[in-house]
Amino acid sequence: MAVSSILLGCIADDFTGATDLANNLVRAGMRVVQTVGVPTAPLDASVDAVVVSLKSRTIAPNQAVAQSRAALDWLKQHQAKQIYFKYCSTFDSTEQGNIGPVIDALMKDLNTDFTVATPAFPDAGRTVYRGYLFVGDVLLNESGMQDHPLTPMRDPNLVRVLKPQTQHAVGLVDYHASTDSTSAIEQRFAALREDGVGIAIVDALNNEDLIRLGHACLDMPLVTGGSGVAIGLPVNFGVEPNVDAAVLPQAHGKQAIVSGSCSRATQAQVADFIEHGGHAIAIDPLSLSQDPAQLEHYIKQAVDTIATEPVLVYSTSTPEQLAQVQTTLGVMAAGELVEQWLAHVACALVQAGVGQLVVAGGETSGAVVQALRIEQLRIGAQIDPGVPWSHGVSKMDQPLPLHISLKSGNFGAVDFFSRAFEVLNA
Ligand code: ADP
Repeated sequence: MAVSSILLGCIADDFTGATDLANNLVRAGMRVVQTVGVPTAPLDASVDAVVVSLKSRTIAPNQAVAQSRAALDWLKQHQAKQIYFKYCSTFDSTEQGNIGPVIDALMKDLNTDFTVATPAFPDAGRTVYRGYLFVGDVLLNESGMQDHPLTPMRDPNLVRVLKPQTQHAVGLVDYHASTDSTSAIEQRFAALREDGVGIAIVDALNNEDLIRLGHACLDMPLVTGGSGVAIGLPVNFGVEPNVDAAVLPQAHGKQAIVSGSCSRATQAQVADFIEHGGHAIAIDPLSLSQDPAQLEHYIKQAVDTIATEPVLVYSTSTPEQLAQVQTTLGVMAAGELVEQWLAHVACALVQAGVGQLVVAGGETSGAVVQALRIEQLRIGAQIDPGVPWSHGVSKMDQPLPLHISLKSGNFGAVDFFSRAFEVLNA
């Protein structure tokens, strides 16, 4: 069977990150499918870009590398003209990885000795200045990310963060070049290469910097970054913004939100939903770990609620509450347990008629989408920067089409949960 060719082949280290990237590509005019893991079936539609979403951000580095290489093989089979490796806009990683090891492996397989790395995404408040990552007005390590359950980020200097993770020398293209011109960036690339640098962190303060950077990446086999750099890539393939790229089928079914994100933005969104009279059900990990049967009780309450109004089921908690749960259950065990519980809730809700589902949290989204057995998502219009609606088919028993929005923890305005449904049904 002939395989259809694609322009941009992307590998993302988590599901919400993949959606965020896909969203930027759609806005730049590409028709995009996000796949859940490496596809096993042919693509549902002919598209310009495929984003293979993995759940590799916090797994062992060798597994992250193996999964990323498998995704690369598939994208190469589909003749992707350029490869993009997407990680978090807050550069979520540990000393072991997985950003560095995956970049190293992809560079080797693509036979290239130079690439860029920048999580900058000014539309979502992520800027890089002199190699330091800012989240809004504050440095990364003051943004709440220093308390992240799985990848606490305590150093905002990205050159320093990446160094212990990679075999390549790491350098910096600072704002002098990125605010100047594409050729200034290219000259800086050439100088770094001469110095033996393999990976360049790139400063970017606004979208124009990213567009200049995108042009400078025209001939690179591999580009790596948050989702921001992607805004400058479609034009390299002659693709211009157009509304057709974002068209999805009409929405149907009940509405629900499942939140396992403890990020500050999500905490505010949960609080706002409750303050405005939304029906919310908090799950208590400590008591559930003692008595897992309680989950059915939460599910019944949630299913009763969707008959008349949207429901929010959440484990979102403050850093203090989180620390208490993690001390008792262990960090990884707590994370996995909560993800599995929330995924189970999401499946029950979809089986009970939810056709419009918002999921908050990168890891949580990964668990939910896997449990729902959704394999491909066509990406639609955005709700807030980085977070679009998408449409896919859940294949748990009989196929159930649904609209789903996967929200990365720190993304979205405070009224995100209520506004998401307004945007979908506008
Ligand atoms: P974000 O996108 O905000 O980082 P994630 O879903 O990626 O959110 O990560 C949050 C992690 O914290 C998940 O593994 C989730 O299961 C875990 N978690 C969520 N709530 C709790 C809680 N109350 N206690 C312990 N772990 C939790």
